[in-house]
Amino acid sequence: MNDKNNEKLKNIKIKLIEKKKSIIAQLQKFAKKNKNIKDDYKTDFPNLGDHADENAVEVSDYASKLSVEHDLESELKNIEGALKKTSENTYGTCSVCGEKINPKRLEVMPEANLCIKCAEKKR
Ligand SMILES: [Zn+2]
Repeated sequence: MNDKNNEKLKNIKIKLIEKKKSIIAQLQKFAKKNKNIKDDYKTDFPNLGDHADENAVEVSDYASKLSVEHDLESELKNIEGALKKTSENTYGTCSVCGEKINPKRLEVMPEANLCIKCAEKKR
């Protein structure tokens, strides 16, 4: 690997770490870290009172937080995977088929672990 690539990889690593930090900060606003599972967070369950009307609002609020939590968690897992790849020198290759991931895709989504074909199949 030449210096230019090394430099590029370093920048990607910095970008990924920054992204990771901001996701963790977002998660910590409403969820607690699960101590038993790495990178897993638990959304605080609302304190349900006696008023059914209020509870409905709290439960729907909880449900929307949960879906945000899942999105953030899966992004966090992608970032971890991409970071691992940067240290294993496999960054930029698809985890499923091993093909090179389109550099344009990596520019917008540096945490992408799958090529566009495999990502679409997974959906
Ligand atoms: Zn692939």
